[in-house]
Order: sequence, then structure tokens, then C-alpha cells
Amino acid sequence: MENRDVKLAEKILSLKKKRNAVILAHNYQLGEVQDIADFVGDSLELSQNAARTDAEVIIFCGVHFMAETASILCPDKAVLLPDINAGCPMADMITAEELKKKKEELPRATVVCYINSTAEVKTESDVCCTSANGVKVIESLDAQEILFVPDQYLGHYISTKTDKKMVLWPGFCPSHIRILPEHITQLRKEYPQAKVVVHPECRPDVIALADEALGTGGMCRYARRDDVKAMIVGTEIGILHRLRKENPGKKFTPATEQAVCPNMKLITLEKVLWSLEEMAPEVKVPEEIRLRAKAAVDKMLEIGRG
Ligand code: SF4
Repeated sequence: MENRDVKLAEKILSLKKKRNAVILAHNYQLGEVQDIADFVGDSLELSQNAARTDAEVIIFCGVHFMAETASILCPDKAVLLPDINAGCPMADMITAEELKKKKEELPRATVVCYINSTAEVKTESDVCCTSANGVKVIESLDAQEILFVPDQYLGHYISTKTDKKMVLWPGFCPSHIRILPEHITQLRKEYPQAKVVVHPECRPDVIALADEALGTGGMCRYARRDDVKAMIVGTEIGILHRLRKENPGKKFTPATEQAVCPNMKLITLEKVLWSLEEMAPEVKVPEEIRLRAKAAVDKMLEIGRG
């Protein structure tokens, strides 16, 4: 950390104590933000951590739908998102109104929404899933027809693992589609011993070239395996910071340096400090929406326990 960052970090940590706050950072956050966090993880791990903590305030270093999920699971805590403009373009590729219309066209379909969706879209969904549990969630449902929103690529990946009929909403992650098959082919030549691990939000022709398709939590666990000495990483480049920190001596190479989520990078140490000073901006899901959205999240958690 640079000297300036160290000073900021000290101020953040002392104010954090005073406010009884916990700092959660997504795997795609800037390295200096990850370094001051109490927990670093994927969006669901972070929200579950949020629900377990005794802290009264949650500083969510991630994007808007993640802060909403924390608010859905922890209605009694103040959830602060240090930059309120940190959105997720993929989550915003479908609205609750659009989903309602689509449901009218497909009255027999069960709606499964990726956790990367707005609280309002969750209210119109039967169950949520993550990139890690999508197959399990869909296989556990009685329905034969699934409407999957908003990520067509995660939906496509899941459809290759199930016999159910899946209708895919045409959303996508603008950062993950920057990873191209030629990136993987080239890096395999340069690093023939390396394992290639990509996120299921990647295009199907990228996933087809990988050894594994895993969410960010799964990637971190995979990297710890003894037989993995080098890894080509097909996801947002922020995760490289955590992979390198946790696995000194192993080599991690991004599939492309262009896989950057500009929204994740809006959160800085300065903004974390301001957020703690001003106790803003707060993300609070209105109770009526919260209860309906929570039903879809709870159903996923139940399936996970089953
Ligand atoms: S990486 Fe993609 S899915 Fe994740 S927050 Fe950014 S735009 Fe949304």
C-alpha cells in the first residue's frame, strides 16, 4: 500500500470501530479496498456474512444489487454503498415490468433469476441462483420449463447441464464478454501447464476452451489445490489481487486485461471513508419489495441446504 493509502486505511479502521461497522468487499474490488475489508468474497458469501455479523452498519464495497441483497437479508442494519452510481449493467438489462410481460407469454415457466438482478426483478421471480448453484437449483425444481434472467450466458451454461427447457433472457455482462476464444488459445500456447478457469458469465465458445467454469468463490478454492501451479483466469481482473495474495508462488495470468468492470472500480478508499463519516449513501429496500424478493432468495438458500 502507498503511504497515502495507509493513512486512509488507518482513518477508516478507527471510524469503523466507532460506528460498529463491518466492511465487505467483492472479489472484483480494487486491491487496496480488498485489503481493508473484514470479508472478501462473492456476492452471496458477503450477504451471508452480513446476516451473521453483530455490526450495526455494513459498508458494501461492490455494486448496487449486492447492497440490495444485503439489505434484503439484514433489514435492521444500515447498508451503505460508498458510490451510489456503482450499478451492474447486466442487472439493469431487465426490469420487473419487462419480466411480468414475459411471464404472460410463458405462463407455465418457473422464473429463476441470477442473484445479479435488482430487488424488483427478484420480486417477480420464483427462486434465485448463483453461478455456483444454478444447476442444483434448476434440477431441484418440479417445473420442466424455466425462464432464466438476466444472464443468457450463465443460462446457456446451465442449460448444457440439464434436460429442462430453458428460455434465456438476452442479458450479458459487458466485462465478461470481452474475454474471447483467441485470448484463451494464445495463453494456452504460452502457458501449456496452466489450468484455464473461466466464469460461467463468459461466452459459450470461451467456456468450451476452459478446464473449468467456476464462480469467483469456486475459483479461489480451485487455486488452492496442490496440483494447480499456474492458472489462466477468465473473469474480472480484480480477483487476481486475492488469488496472488492467497497463493504466493503460484502464477496467475488474466485471460485479458480488458475484463474490467468499471462499476466495481468506482469504490475507492476515499469513498469508503466518506461513507463512514456521513453514514451515506444508504441502500434500503422498501419492506413490501424486500419481503417478496426475500422469498426468492430464501428458496435458493433452502435448496442449498437440501
Ligand atoms: S462484472 Fe459484470 S455482472 Fe459483475 S457487476 Fe460488473 S457488469 Fe455486473
